[in-house]
Amino acid sequence: MLVTSNFNVHGIDVRPHTQCAHWHSSRDIIAIRHKCCGEYYACISCHEALAGHKNQVWPKDEWGPSNIVLCGKCLCEMSVVQYLGCDNHCPSCKAEFNPGCRNHYHLYFEDKMVSRSARYGKSAESILGSVSRSSFFEFCQLQSNNIVSSQL
Ligand SMILES: [Zn+2]
Ligand SMILES: [Zn+2]
Ligand SMILES: [Zn+2]
Repeated sequence: MLVTSNFNVHGIDVRPHTQCAHWHSSRDIIAIRHKCCGEYYACISCHEALAGHKNQVWPKDEWGPSNIVLCGKCLCEMSVVQYLGCDNHCPSCKAEFNPGCRNHYHLYFEDKMVSRSARYGKSAESILGSVSRSSFFEFCQLQSNNIVSSQL
């Protein structure tokens, strides 16, 4: 566990910039607060290994107001909307984030397309298999743009 003055970041082999045993490139420097327990984990695999409970995704109505993503470099917190709109650079210190993280957004953030289709009886896995990751990312960007513009 990484302990800073303001945050505990849980995980396996967590390093000073919140890299962990699973993700440790120089750009894997974000930690994500989990909806289920409110705690920061270096990644979802760390949560799986250590938390002892099932991960919950953040519903979209909490993407704007809540601080959910932590920059491991400057330790600023941002909302999902800020994170999705930051173009893979920390809004505060400009550190580069791993753009590959977009492949895992659905593990942390509610995927409306999946939950909508799931109501028609298909399993999340079969839907996830058919929705390409990039279209999910575009969907997220669209959503975050909508949220941002509705705040103006
Ligand atoms: Zn949890
Ligand atoms: Zn990890
Ligand atoms: Zn930063």
